[in-house]
Amino acid sequence: MEIISRRVDLELVRTWTIARGSAESIPVVVTEITTCEGVRGLGEASPISRYGESVETVENFLRRVDPARLSCRDIAGSMTYLNTLSPHDMAAKCAVNLALVDAAGRDAKQAVYDQLGLGFREGVHVTSFSIGIDSPAVIREKVLAAAEYPVLKLKVGVPDDHLMVSALREVAPKKPIRVDANEGWLTKEEALKRIEWLAADGKVQFVEQPMPAKTPVVDLVWLKERSPLPLFADESYHTAADVEHCAQCFHGVNVKLAKTAGVTGAFEALKAARAKGLKTMIGCMIETSVLISAAAHLSELADHLDLDGNLLIKNDPYAGVTAPRGVLSFASAPETSGLRVRVRNSR
Ligand SMILES: [Mg+2]
Repeated sequence: MEIISRRVDLELVRTWTIARGSAESIPVVVTEITTCEGVRGLGEASPISRYGESVETVENFLRRVDPARLSCRDIAGSMTYLNTLSPHDMAAKCAVNLALVDAAGRDAKQAVYDQLGLGFREGVHVTSFSIGIDSPAVIREKVLAAAEYPVLKLKVGVPDDHLMVSALREVAPKKPIRVDANEGWLTKEEALKRIEWLAADGKVQFVEQPMPAKTPVVDLVWLKERSPLPLFADESYHTAADVEHCAQCFHGVNVKLAKTAGVTGAFEALKAARAKGLKTMIGCMIETSVLISAAAHLSELADHLDLDGNLLIKNDPYAGVTAPRGVLSFASAPETSGLRVRVRNSR
């Protein structure tokens, strides 16, 4: 029984800028856990600074975990144990959960999507490819480089939003896009004005998190009632516990494993959203193929996918799900069970 973890600095193909800041590389923590049954699994934490998480908080949490309490045959019990250590630290708990889910699948010689009763259809699940905030010239270049991807997700939430959308349209006039404001529009009037302008484009599928999560409900409801485009919650939807609030204020939710503490919580968050009539999306952070593959196992519960974190980096240490032309595939995955992930170039 042991927990091995190490920091990996994921090098970005291009500088990554969203409404909150810029980065050339993003640190994650990868883990390998041997459960009390002696089964090994791979995990990953992608700490979210927006929620006070860092490599240090993840490592501190993992040091407090007693691996003897982790069972791949009782994942619910193991998660209850982790919750006694801290009410927060979702990214760190995600790393443990992924390793347990991976180990459980290997133990049962089943893929995670089959263990969850979901299955996975090849050739069906399309991920968007993200374009970060940049100058119009760089946006044009990035959009051309992303020609193989059928749907793009554009990060906005800065004063020059319209220039980025126009630059994208110069080189991809008809491509469907999603727009993520990352809480960047501060008043409901500003948000509505920008959403109405985006709706006139005719090819914007939806807008993610237009306003800050702390925005009063009355303002979010005001915007939902008037918005000509569907609104998806990201920073406002962490776990299934937020579903009532989001059903009131949004049309859909973006579920991320780093927010739900892994596959188990994401499964619940997606089912809770669908039960409330919300559209569902599975998103990601900048991540390796461990987290991206783990999320891909839940594809059948999503109306939209944004699982491109591993496509934006140069030094992915793992191989798992692939996304040729944006279509998720496990056809060439190196493993048949668990998360279907392996360390790259290892046997
Ligand atoms: Mg988002």
